[in-house]
Amino acid sequence: MAKKQFKAESKRLLDLMINSIYTHKEIFLREILSNASDALDKLAYLALTDDKVGMSRKDFQITIVPDKEARTLTVSDNGIGMTREELENNLGTIAKSGSRQFKEDLAGGENDKAASKVDIIGQFGVGFYSAFMVSDLVTVRTRAYGSDEAWCWESSGADGYTVTPCDKETVGTDIVMKLKADTEEENYTRYLEPHRLEELVKKYSDYIRYPIRMELEDYREKPKPADAGEDYKPEWEMVKEWQTVNSMVPIWQRQKSKVKTEDYNNFYKEKFSDWQDPLAVIHTSAEGAVQYKALLYIPAKAPYDFYTREFQKGLQLYSSGVLIMDKCADLLPDHFRFVRGVVDSPDFSLNISREVLQHTSQLRVIATNLEKKIKAELLKLLKSDREKYRAFWKEFGMQLKYGVVNDYGRHKELLQDLLLFPSSAEGEDTTLEEYQSRMKDDQPYVYYAQGEQVDQVARLPQAERILDKGYEILYFTDEVDEFIVQTLGELNGKPFKSVSDEDALPQTDEEKARTEKQAEENKPLLDFVKETLGDKIVAARISRILKSGTVCMTTDGPVSLEMEKYFNRIERNGEQIQSQRVLELNADAPAFAALKAAWDKGDKELAAKYVKVLYGQALLIANLPLEDPAEYAELVCSLMK
Ligand code: ADP
Repeated sequence: MAKKQFKAESKRLLDLMINSIYTHKEIFLREILSNASDALDKLAYLALTDDKVGMSRKDFQITIVPDKEARTLTVSDNGIGMTREELENNLGTIAKSGSRQFKEDLAGGENDKAASKVDIIGQFGVGFYSAFMVSDLVTVRTRAYGSDEAWCWESSGADGYTVTPCDKETVGTDIVMKLKADTEEENYTRYLEPHRLEELVKKYSDYIRYPIRMELEDYREKPKPADAGEDYKPEWEMVKEWQTVNSMVPIWQRQKSKVKTEDYNNFYKEKFSDWQDPLAVIHTSAEGAVQYKALLYIPAKAPYDFYTREFQKGLQLYSSGVLIMDKCADLLPDHFRFVRGVVDSPDFSLNISREVLQHTSQLRVIATNLEKKIKAELLKLLKSDREKYRAFWKEFGMQLKYGVVNDYGRHKELLQDLLLFPSSAEGEDTTLEEYQSRMKDDQPYVYYAQGEQVDQVARLPQAERILDKGYEILYFTDEVDEFIVQTLGELNGKPFKSVSDEDALPQTDEEKARTEKQAEENKPLLDFVKETLGDKIVAARISRILKSGTVCMTTDGPVSLEMEKYFNRIERNGEQIQSQRVLELNADAPAFAALKAAWDKGDKELAAKYVKVLYGQALLIANLPLEDPAEYAELVCSLMK
């Protein structure tokens, strides 16, 4: 019979599996058991709503049967099974969503070093194909629930597979793996040793909620004969017995003190197809009006689609150990959407509909509690392990920032302690609380400066005066930062203030009189500046915030330069949002003196050139594009002649 070919990607994955030099080949068992468990979940779920299934939880099981003579290892489940189409679709292609990354890697990876590929195998749950790491022939016999025919899928690897009808009395699936011959490096025969298999089940699949059963040998005391005399000595015998090997208690149902970090991490990686340990684990429970157990994880890395619309937040919701919803979105607020995990509560009926569930008060209570727990955990991390928190912030900080401004600032109190910003005093980052603790007694505002990059912002001419006073400046380099400030308004009574604000530093009466005098004296010149630049600015002004710098661009009104940049980048249906730009000039700067001299001499042409150059400089400093770079260059050159 002609063999069917695997889909291209699957074939390459298969090649990798077959030729794998990956040392943890033993994980194939975990993958196969996890598929069996999923199949049982599906039928168990069906049984809840459909009496015809006629099975209850206690009927479901997985068996492992090693056969030394035939050199096969068979894993069977009485789960949902597969129809012919499903067999073709599921085992002829990579179905797994979590393997997306893997696929991408394969797609670009023809010439990759084998070592890097091998690495990936270990990192991802690669599912069914991992059977080929240890077997040279895999046979799948399966009968789908509701179907009266059974099908046999068979493949000895990359050269394709066959699907033929077969006999199978009961619904479910048998995976028969014909183990490879032992080599010098690899002993495959050990996967036929019952106690070795038992060990593997305990190590990787202990929490699977269905019994994984095996026939094991055990020494047992023989029953005492009825006629045993005084001097009877107990006798022992070897018996073979079917035993349930896994503890079946889901990890979240266990006592915290009995679970090792490694167990938590393994569970996480297995369940959520991540290859990295999570950054933090929250294992919590509540008794009382609302009962639940929850096991939450903060991932170390954002999934590739985290900042896209495709990403779906949510926690797995179980009711007394039965999965009732895979991604219950209502259990997680948007700002903590990166959290993964499981909630198990006996308070929900098994066949509760999504709509009803959404409106139950229990769900809301749990969600609120979990939100507090997550916040507490993050705060703990922030205070006790800054490095780790930084790693978290790098991945998910943006989500928290948006959390502050979203929903009209409803979550700002909750989230503000978790924010980090670079600052003039602390370099890398500071919390707002830390900033506050360093504030000078006479400091009127919480200062911030905006720009695209930290070092750029740090060198803004308008920051100088404030830094000279010994005041710290928060550096805002994300567009959302300014909106955060608008949402927060103040930090314990001290308003936020941009360093570009005209009144960023309160002036003494003396200083005030001086700038007023300068403004007065230079009024005609400032009018000329405005006239020369026309609509490009709303005003030219003698600066109160510059120290050694000659010019800077600031704004009047609510729209800052950074906001203007932001609004002009996002969709606005063609409508322009303009800031009201103000060109600030430092009356004490030598370049200003040159402008003034030209003006005083009546050389309007030269004065106009100076004005345009200064305007161009202000744009450049603010990281705004020059309207006509060529003209600007010519202008500068003409002045150098
Ligand atoms: P994943 O389990 O991550 O989806 P796999 O490659 O392990 O990827 O399996 C592919 C698909 O094959 C599964 O999604 C499932 O639909 C089907 N499958 C695998 N094993 C079984 C099984 N024992 N019973 C029913 N379906 C199965």
